[in-house]
Amino acid sequence: MLTIAISKGRIYREALPLLDTAGIRPGDDPETSRKLVFDTNLDDVRMLVLRAQDVPTFVEHGAADLGLAGKDVLLEHGGEGLYEPLDLGIARCRMVVAVRRGRETLPRRPRVATKYVESTRRFFAAAGVQAEIIKLYGSMELAPVVGLADCIVDLVDTGSTLAANGLVEVEEVCPISTRLIANKASMKMKHARMKTFIDSLSNAVAEDPAP
Ligand code: AMP
Repeated sequence: MLTIAISKGRIYREALPLLDTAGIRPGDDPETSRKLVFDTNLDDVRMLVLRAQDVPTFVEHGAADLGLAGKDVLLEHGGEGLYEPLDLGIARCRMVVAVRRGRETLPRRPRVATKYVESTRRFFAAAGVQAEIIKLYGSMELAPVVGLADCIVDLVDTGSTLAANGLVEVEEVCPISTRLIANKASMKMKHARMKTFIDSLSNAVAEDPAP
């Protein structure tokens, strides 16, 4: 049995055509069903529907053999206990530093509001900047507007959320996309089945006309 962990929303929607090309079709629609475990058209493949942040945890501990997770989530998780065999190239966006328009020059010791504490800490440390990181769980864009922070680190896709809040991007932290992750023990114990799955998904990604 192969167990694949996946989150609802954009990753699921964009992964569905790739899984279909790889020959895997979920038995139910997690967007509408309350079920958390799904059978698929293949007798030996099932899916777990999890919060995005929990996908690496389930895979690292072997509760799932494989998972689909955003690089932003993996960077926060740490990822040492996981293999990351494939970039699916879906749910693409960028992690960026953004400030209020007209406040592009940051103070020497900036206050940075973010949900992505680890990525932010590493980014500013690599730049030799001593940043004070303020952990938020959402609506980061508000923080510079109300004076809680000098800048934010957040995900940007079209840029319209930043623009709507009078913010501008000043630096890119890293590009983000969805990755296939694999449990290390499963890669040894179920090597042939895992390899078949990874190869078929890799072929589906290569055939995908979307960038
Ligand atoms: P946008 O206005 O198109 O730049 O989208 C920015 C908003 O969408 C931010 O609140 C982001 O947190 C969120 N977002 C954009 N892309 C992604 C992604 N691939 N995964 C998760 N959240 C995203």
